[in-house]
Amino acid sequence: MRAVVLKGTREVSVERVPDPEIEAPTDAIIRVTSAAICGSDLHMFAGRTVAPAGLVLGHEPLGVVVEVGADVTSVKSGDRVVVPFNVSCGVCFNCMRGFTSACLAVNADSAGGAYGYVGMGPYRGAQAEYLRVPFAETNCLKVPGKAGDEWEDAFVLLADVFPTGWYANELAGVHAGSTVAVFGAGPVGLLSAYSALLKDAAEVYIVDGVDDRLAKAAEVGACPIDFRRGDPVEQIVAERRRKTAGKLRPGEEKMMGVMCGIEAVGYQAIDWSDPTMAENPGRVLEDLIRLVNPTGRIGSVGLYVPNDPGGINPHAKRGEFRLSFGKLWEKGLSLGTGQTPVVRFAPMLRDLIVAGKARPDSLVSHRLPLEEAPEAYAKFEQRVAGYTKVVLRPELRVSG
Ligand SMILES: [Zn+2]
Ligand SMILES: [Zn+2]
Repeated sequence: MRAVVLKGTREVSVERVPDPEIEAPTDAIIRVTSAAICGSDLHMFAGRTVAPAGLVLGHEPLGVVVEVGADVTSVKSGDRVVVPFNVSCGVCFNCMRGFTSACLAVNADSAGGAYGYVGMGPYRGAQAEYLRVPFAETNCLKVPGKAGDEWEDAFVLLADVFPTGWYANELAGVHAGSTVAVFGAGPVGLLSAYSALLKDAAEVYIVDGVDDRLAKAAEVGACPIDFRRGDPVEQIVAERRRKTAGKLRPGEEKMMGVMCGIEAVGYQAIDWSDPTMAENPGRVLEDLIRLVNPTGRIGSVGLYVPNDPGGINPHAKRGEFRLSFGKLWEKGLSLGTGQTPVVRFAPMLRDLIVAGKARPDSLVSHRLPLEEAPEAYAKFEQRVAGYTKVVLRPELRVSG
Protein backbone atom coordinates (compact mmCIF):
# COMPACT_ATOMS: atom_id res chain seq x y z
CA MET A 1 0.00 0.00 0.00
CA ARG A 2 0.96 3.68 -0.25
CA ALA A 3 1.87 5.63 2.90
CA VAL A 4 3.38 8.98 3.94
CA VAL A 5 6.90 8.34 5.27
CA LEU A 6 9.13 10.72 7.25
CA LYS A 7 12.53 10.76 5.50
CA GLY A 8 14.40 13.51 7.37
CA THR A 9 14.08 17.14 8.39
CA ARG A 10 11.41 18.81 6.21
CA GLU A 11 11.26 15.74 4.02
CA VAL A 12 8.36 13.33 3.65
CA SER A 13 7.61 11.07 0.72
CA VAL A 14 4.84 8.76 -0.39
CA GLU A 15 6.14 5.21 -0.62
CA ARG A 16 5.01 1.63 -0.93
CA VAL A 17 5.07 -0.22 2.41
CA PRO A 18 3.75 -3.70 3.27
CA ASP A 19 0.00 -3.93 3.86
CA PRO A 20 -0.90 -4.23 7.56
CA GLU A 21 -2.08 -7.61 8.79
CA ILE A 22 -4.05 -8.87 11.76
CA GLU A 23 -1.38 -9.53 14.41
CA ALA A 24 -3.60 -10.26 17.41
CA PRO A 25 -7.17 -11.57 17.68
CA THR A 26 -8.22 -8.16 19.10
CA ASP A 27 -7.00 -6.23 15.99
CA ALA A 28 -8.95 -4.72 13.13
CA ILE A 29 -7.75 -3.43 9.77
CA ILE A 30 -9.42 -0.35 8.36
CA ARG A 31 -9.33 1.13 4.87
CA VAL A 32 -8.54 4.79 5.52
CA THR A 33 -10.91 7.21 3.78
CA SER A 34 -9.56 10.37 5.46
CA ALA A 35 -6.41 11.03 7.50
CA ALA A 36 -5.71 14.56 8.66
CA ILE A 37 -2.32 16.21 9.04
CA CYS A 38 -1.93 17.54 12.59
CA GLY A 39 -0.02 20.53 13.87
CA SER A 40 1.79 18.07 16.12
CA ASP A 41 3.05 16.21 13.00
CA LEU A 42 4.86 19.41 12.07
CA HIS A 43 7.19 19.14 15.08
CA MET A 44 8.45 15.83 13.65
CA PHE A 45 8.50 17.24 10.10
CA ALA A 46 10.60 20.22 11.25
CA GLY A 47 13.17 17.99 12.98
CA ARG A 48 12.10 19.21 16.41
CA THR A 49 11.72 15.73 17.91
CA VAL A 50 13.81 12.57 17.93
CA ALA A 51 11.46 10.85 15.44
CA PRO A 52 13.36 8.29 13.36
CA ALA A 53 13.47 8.40 9.55
CA GLY A 54 11.19 5.76 8.06
CA LEU A 55 8.27 6.47 10.39
CA VAL A 56 4.86 6.31 8.68
CA LEU A 57 3.09 9.46 9.88
CA GLY A 58 -0.52 10.19 10.82
CA HIS A 59 -2.76 9.70 13.84
CA GLU A 60 -6.12 11.12 12.77
CA PRO A 61 -7.93 8.40 10.77
CA LEU A 62 -11.47 7.83 9.60
CA GLY A 63 -12.23 4.73 7.57
CA VAL A 64 -14.12 1.53 6.97
CA VAL A 65 -13.36 -1.79 8.67
CA VAL A 66 -12.18 -4.42 6.18
CA GLU A 67 -11.07 -7.23 8.51
CA VAL A 68 -11.33 -8.10 12.22
CA GLY A 69 -9.54 -10.56 14.47
CA ALA A 70 -11.29 -13.56 15.99
CA ASP A 71 -11.99 -11.83 19.33
CA VAL A 72 -13.58 -8.68 17.86
CA THR A 73 -17.37 -8.81 18.02
CA SER A 74 -18.61 -5.23 18.45
CA VAL A 75 -17.34 -3.97 15.10
CA LYS A 76 -17.39 -5.83 11.81
CA SER A 77 -16.26 -5.56 8.23
CA GLY A 78 -18.07 -2.70 6.48
CA ASP A 79 -18.53 -0.56 9.61
CA ARG A 80 -17.55 3.09 9.27
CA VAL A 81 -15.31 4.04 12.19
CA VAL A 82 -13.24 6.92 13.50
CA VAL A 83 -10.09 5.90 15.39
CA PRO A 84 -8.86 7.98 18.38
CA PHE A 85 -5.21 9.00 18.06
CA ASN A 86 -4.48 7.26 21.39
CA VAL A 87 -3.87 3.54 21.16
CA SER A 88 -5.40 2.09 24.32
CA CYS A 89 -6.34 -1.29 25.75
CA GLY A 90 -9.54 -0.18 27.47
CA VAL A 91 -9.03 -2.28 30.61
CA CYS A 92 -5.81 -1.24 32.41
CA PHE A 93 -5.74 0.89 35.59
CA ASN A 94 -5.63 4.16 33.64
CA CYS A 95 -8.04 3.18 30.85
CA MET A 96 -10.59 2.02 33.44
CA ARG A 97 -10.42 5.48 35.03
CA GLY A 98 -11.01 7.16 31.66
CA PHE A 99 -7.38 8.05 30.93
CA THR A 100 -6.93 6.14 27.66
CA SER A 101 -4.22 8.70 26.88
CA ALA A 102 -2.06 7.04 29.54
CA CYS A 103 -2.77 3.38 28.76
CA LEU A 104 -0.33 1.09 30.54
CA ALA A 105 -0.48 -1.80 28.09
CA VAL A 106 0.45 -0.34 24.69
CA ASN A 107 3.90 1.25 24.96
CA ALA A 108 6.93 -0.34 26.62
CA ASP A 109 8.61 3.05 27.11
CA SER A 110 5.92 5.11 28.83
CA ALA A 111 2.23 5.49 29.63
CA GLY A 112 0.19 6.06 26.47
CA GLY A 113 0.49 5.11 22.81
CA ALA A 114 -0.41 6.67 19.47
CA TYR A 115 -0.21 5.94 15.75
CA GLY A 116 2.74 7.26 13.78
CA TYR A 117 4.27 9.31 16.56
CA VAL A 118 7.72 9.49 18.13
CA GLY A 119 7.93 7.87 21.56
CA MET A 120 4.36 6.59 21.40
CA GLY A 121 4.97 2.92 20.70
CA PRO A 122 5.46 0.75 17.61
CA TYR A 123 2.25 1.74 15.81
CA ARG A 124 2.36 2.59 12.14
CA GLY A 125 0.74 5.86 11.12
CA ALA A 126 -2.62 6.49 9.47
CA GLN A 127 -1.62 8.62 6.50
CA ALA A 128 -1.81 5.48 4.42
CA GLU A 129 -4.31 3.35 2.54
CA TYR A 130 -4.80 0.92 5.43
CA LEU A 131 -4.26 0.93 9.20
CA ARG A 132 -4.00 -1.80 11.81
CA VAL A 133 -6.06 -0.84 14.87
CA PRO A 134 -5.09 -2.76 18.05
CA PHE A 135 -7.78 -3.41 20.67
CA ALA A 136 -10.43 -2.65 18.04
CA GLU A 137 -13.33 -2.88 20.48
CA THR A 138 -11.95 0.13 22.37
CA ASN A 139 -10.40 2.01 19.46
CA CYS A 140 -13.05 1.88 16.72
CA LEU A 141 -15.88 4.35 17.33
CA LYS A 142 -18.77 3.65 15.00
CA VAL A 143 -20.15 6.59 13.05
CA PRO A 144 -23.16 6.67 10.75
CA GLY A 145 -23.31 7.37 7.03
CA LYS A 146 -21.12 6.32 4.14
CA ALA A 147 -17.50 7.08 3.23
CA GLY A 148 -17.20 10.45 1.50
CA ASP A 149 -20.60 11.79 2.61
CA GLU A 150 -21.33 15.23 4.10
CA TRP A 151 -20.01 14.09 7.53
CA GLU A 152 -16.59 12.92 6.24
CA ASP A 153 -14.76 16.12 7.27
CA ALA A 154 -16.51 16.45 10.64
CA PHE A 155 -15.97 12.82 11.66
CA VAL A 156 -12.24 12.81 10.87
CA LEU A 157 -11.86 15.68 13.34
CA LEU A 158 -13.14 13.31 16.08
CA ALA A 159 -9.83 11.42 15.99
CA ASP A 160 -7.98 14.25 17.72
CA VAL A 161 -8.59 17.97 17.26
CA PHE A 162 -12.27 18.30 18.21
CA PRO A 163 -11.96 16.15 21.38
CA THR A 164 -8.68 17.96 22.17
CA GLY A 165 -10.38 21.36 21.86
CA TRP A 166 -13.14 20.07 24.13
CA TYR A 167 -10.67 18.58 26.64
CA ALA A 168 -8.83 21.93 26.84
CA ASN A 169 -12.12 23.37 28.10
CA GLU A 170 -12.48 20.56 30.65
CA LEU A 171 -8.95 21.21 31.95
CA ALA A 172 -9.62 24.96 32.08
CA GLY A 173 -12.94 24.46 33.91
CA VAL A 174 -15.10 26.14 31.25
CA HIS A 175 -18.86 26.18 31.88
CA ALA A 176 -21.83 28.39 31.03
CA GLY A 177 -20.96 32.02 31.71
CA SER A 178 -17.17 31.48 31.82
CA THR A 179 -14.66 34.01 30.55
CA VAL A 180 -12.14 32.21 28.33
CA ALA A 181 -8.91 33.10 26.55
CA VAL A 182 -7.41 30.69 24.03
CA PHE A 183 -3.81 31.17 22.90
CA GLY A 184 -3.23 29.83 19.38
CA ALA A 185 -5.73 29.88 16.51
CA GLY A 186 -4.60 26.72 14.76
CA PRO A 187 -7.15 23.89 14.42
CA VAL A 188 -7.00 22.92 18.12
CA GLY A 189 -7.21 26.54 19.29
CA LEU A 190 -10.12 27.25 16.97
CA LEU A 191 -11.95 24.13 18.15
CA SER A 192 -11.17 25.05 21.78
CA ALA A 193 -12.88 28.41 21.22
CA TYR A 194 -15.71 26.69 19.34
CA SER A 195 -16.15 24.19 22.20
CA ALA A 196 -16.21 27.04 24.74
CA LEU A 197 -19.02 28.65 22.75
CA LEU A 198 -20.88 25.30 22.61
CA LYS A 199 -20.59 25.26 26.40
CA ASP A 200 -22.16 28.76 26.52
CA ALA A 201 -19.09 30.65 27.72
CA ALA A 202 -19.87 34.34 28.14
CA GLU A 203 -16.70 35.74 26.56
CA VAL A 204 -14.17 33.91 24.37
CA TYR A 205 -10.91 35.56 23.25
CA ILE A 206 -8.43 33.95 20.90
CA VAL A 207 -4.84 35.12 20.47
CA ASP A 208 -2.71 34.65 17.34
CA GLY A 209 -0.51 36.63 14.96
CA VAL A 210 -1.57 35.28 11.56
CA ASP A 211 -4.25 37.15 9.58
CA ASP A 212 -6.27 34.28 8.17
CA ARG A 213 -6.25 32.44 11.53
CA LEU A 214 -7.58 35.56 13.25
CA ALA A 215 -10.26 35.85 10.57
CA LYS A 216 -11.22 32.22 11.14
CA ALA A 217 -11.40 32.90 14.91
CA ALA A 218 -13.90 35.69 14.29
CA GLU A 219 -15.83 33.34 11.99
CA VAL A 220 -16.32 30.79 14.79
CA GLY A 221 -17.62 33.59 17.02
CA ALA A 222 -14.60 34.37 19.22
CA CYS A 223 -13.01 37.79 19.78
CA PRO A 224 -9.67 37.81 17.89
CA ILE A 225 -6.61 39.35 19.61
CA ASP A 226 -3.62 40.11 17.37
CA PHE A 227 -0.35 39.81 19.31
CA ARG A 228 1.49 41.79 16.61
CA ARG A 229 -0.28 44.84 18.08
CA GLY A 230 1.34 44.33 21.50
CA ASP A 231 0.86 42.47 24.75
CA PRO A 232 -2.17 40.19 24.28
CA VAL A 233 -2.76 40.10 28.06
CA GLU A 234 -3.10 43.90 28.18
CA GLN A 235 -5.35 43.84 25.13
CA ILE A 236 -7.73 41.32 26.73
CA VAL A 237 -7.73 43.13 30.09
CA ALA A 238 -8.53 46.42 28.30
CA GLU A 239 -11.41 44.75 26.44
CA ARG A 240 -12.78 43.25 29.70
CA ARG A 241 -12.51 46.60 31.50
CA ARG A 242 -14.56 48.15 28.70
CA LYS A 243 -17.20 45.37 28.90
CA THR A 244 -17.48 45.48 32.69
CA ALA A 245 -17.40 49.27 33.13
CA GLY A 246 -20.00 50.47 35.61
CA LYS A 247 -20.98 47.07 37.01
CA LEU A 248 -18.10 46.14 39.31
CA ARG A 249 -18.22 45.95 43.10
CA PRO A 250 -15.13 47.11 45.03
CA GLY A 251 -12.29 44.63 44.59
CA GLU A 252 -13.55 43.11 41.37
CA GLU A 253 -11.05 45.18 39.43
CA LYS A 254 -8.60 42.47 40.53
CA MET A 255 -10.51 40.04 38.28
CA MET A 256 -10.05 41.78 34.95
CA GLY A 257 -8.35 38.77 33.41
CA VAL A 258 -10.30 35.61 32.49
CA MET A 259 -11.25 32.64 34.66
CA CYS A 260 -10.22 30.03 32.08
CA GLY A 261 -7.02 30.02 30.05
CA ILE A 262 -6.30 27.60 27.21
CA GLU A 263 -2.83 27.01 25.79
CA ALA A 264 -3.03 25.61 22.23
CA VAL A 265 0.39 26.55 20.86
CA GLY A 266 3.04 24.24 22.27
CA TYR A 267 6.77 24.63 22.69
CA GLN A 268 7.48 26.32 19.36
CA ALA A 269 5.76 29.49 20.58
CA ILE A 270 6.64 32.86 19.11
CA ASP A 271 7.55 35.64 21.56
CA TRP A 272 5.47 38.73 20.75
CA SER A 273 7.68 40.80 23.09
CA ASP A 274 10.81 40.06 21.04
CA PRO A 275 11.36 42.50 18.15
CA THR A 276 12.39 39.59 15.90
CA MET A 277 9.45 37.42 17.06
CA ALA A 278 11.94 34.76 18.15
CA GLU A 279 10.85 31.40 19.60
CA ASN A 280 10.28 31.22 23.37
CA PRO A 281 8.79 27.96 24.68
CA GLY A 282 7.62 29.58 27.95
CA ARG A 283 5.92 32.61 26.40
CA VAL A 284 2.32 31.40 26.28
CA LEU A 285 2.25 29.76 29.73
CA GLU A 286 3.80 32.90 31.20
CA ASP A 287 1.12 35.05 29.54
CA LEU A 288 -1.61 32.77 30.88
CA ILE A 289 -0.23 32.96 34.42
CA ARG A 290 -0.47 36.76 34.11
CA LEU A 291 -3.92 36.74 32.49
CA VAL A 292 -5.92 34.13 34.40
CA ASN A 293 -7.71 35.51 37.48
CA PRO A 294 -6.94 34.28 41.02
CA THR A 295 -8.50 30.79 41.56
CA GLY A 296 -8.84 30.29 37.79
CA ARG A 297 -7.62 27.36 35.72
CA ILE A 298 -5.27 26.82 32.81
CA GLY A 299 -5.59 23.94 30.34
CA SER A 300 -2.47 23.22 28.30
CA VAL A 301 -3.05 21.00 25.26
CA GLY A 302 -0.34 22.39 22.98
CA LEU A 303 2.50 19.90 22.68
CA TYR A 304 5.64 20.02 24.86
CA VAL A 305 8.39 17.39 24.63
CA PRO A 306 11.22 16.31 26.93
CA ASN A 307 13.68 16.05 24.01
CA ASP A 308 13.89 18.85 21.42
CA PRO A 309 16.98 18.69 19.19
CA GLY A 310 16.20 22.18 17.87
CA GLY A 311 15.68 23.84 21.26
CA ILE A 312 16.83 27.45 21.51
CA ASN A 313 19.28 26.71 24.35
CA PRO A 314 20.56 23.69 26.32
CA HIS A 315 17.59 23.87 28.71
CA ALA A 316 15.02 24.05 25.92
CA LYS A 317 16.65 20.99 24.34
CA ARG A 318 15.52 19.11 27.48
CA GLY A 319 12.07 20.69 27.56
CA GLU A 320 13.00 23.01 30.43
CA PHE A 321 12.14 26.71 30.62
CA ARG A 322 11.50 29.47 33.17
CA LEU A 323 8.00 29.75 34.57
CA SER A 324 6.61 32.14 37.23
CA PHE A 325 5.55 29.31 39.51
CA GLY A 326 5.45 31.68 42.50
CA LYS A 327 2.85 33.84 40.76
CA LEU A 328 0.88 30.78 39.69
CA TRP A 329 0.81 29.52 43.27
CA GLU A 330 0.05 32.94 44.76
CA LYS A 331 -2.99 33.24 42.49
CA GLY A 332 -4.10 29.71 43.35
CA LEU A 333 -4.23 28.69 39.71
CA SER A 334 -4.74 25.11 38.57
CA LEU A 335 -2.71 23.90 35.60
CA GLY A 336 -3.93 20.88 33.63
CA THR A 337 -1.77 19.35 30.92
CA GLY A 338 -1.35 16.42 28.61
CA GLN A 339 -2.82 14.42 25.80
CA THR A 340 -6.54 14.05 25.42
CA PRO A 341 -8.21 10.78 26.38
CA VAL A 342 -10.22 10.82 23.14
CA VAL A 343 -12.38 7.78 23.95
CA ARG A 344 -13.95 9.72 26.84
CA PHE A 345 -15.29 12.54 24.63
CA ALA A 346 -15.60 11.33 21.03
CA PRO A 347 -18.97 9.51 21.33
CA MET A 348 -20.69 12.60 22.76
CA LEU A 349 -19.07 14.92 20.19
CA ARG A 350 -20.11 12.50 17.42
CA ASP A 351 -23.69 12.81 18.65
CA LEU A 352 -23.49 16.61 18.66
CA ILE A 353 -22.36 16.44 15.01
CA VAL A 354 -25.09 13.97 14.02
CA ALA A 355 -27.71 16.13 15.78
CA GLY A 356 -26.54 19.12 13.77
CA LYS A 357 -25.49 21.01 16.91
CA ALA A 358 -21.76 21.02 16.17
CA ARG A 359 -20.24 21.81 12.78
CA PRO A 360 -16.47 21.63 13.26
CA ASP A 361 -15.89 20.77 9.58
CA SER A 362 -15.78 24.39 8.40
CA LEU A 363 -12.18 24.15 9.60
CA VAL A 364 -11.13 21.69 6.90
CA SER A 365 -9.48 23.70 4.15
CA HIS A 366 -7.98 21.03 1.89
CA ARG A 367 -8.81 17.46 0.83
CA LEU A 368 -5.81 16.08 -1.04
CA PRO A 369 -4.47 12.81 -2.49
CA LEU A 370 -1.69 11.12 -0.46
CA GLU A 371 0.78 12.09 -3.20
CA GLU A 372 0.34 15.77 -2.33
CA ALA A 373 1.40 15.22 1.30
CA PRO A 374 4.98 16.57 0.83
CA GLU A 375 3.69 19.89 -0.51
CA ALA A 376 0.90 20.03 2.08
CA TYR A 377 3.34 19.52 4.99
CA ALA A 378 5.58 22.31 3.67
CA LYS A 379 2.72 24.76 3.16
CA PHE A 380 1.10 23.93 6.51
CA GLU A 381 4.41 24.50 8.29
CA GLN A 382 4.92 27.84 6.53
CA ARG A 383 1.38 28.85 7.62
CA VAL A 384 0.55 29.58 3.98
CA ALA A 385 -2.72 31.52 3.96
CA GLY A 386 -5.75 29.25 3.84
CA TYR A 387 -3.94 26.07 5.00
CA THR A 388 -6.05 25.63 8.13
CA LYS A 389 -6.56 21.86 8.23
CA VAL A 390 -5.44 19.43 5.55
CA VAL A 391 -7.10 16.04 5.15
CA LEU A 392 -5.46 13.37 3.00
CA ARG A 393 -7.88 11.11 1.16
CA PRO A 394 -6.05 8.01 -0.10
CA GLU A 395 -8.69 7.16 -2.70
CA LEU A 396 -8.11 10.49 -4.50
CA ARG A 397 -5.60 10.44 -7.33
CA VAL A 398 -3.52 13.35 -8.59
CA SER A 399 -5.37 14.82 -11.54
CA GLY A 400 -3.74 15.23 -14.96
ZN1 LIG B 1 -3.35 15.32 15.96
ZN1 LIG C 1 -5.10 0.64 28.91
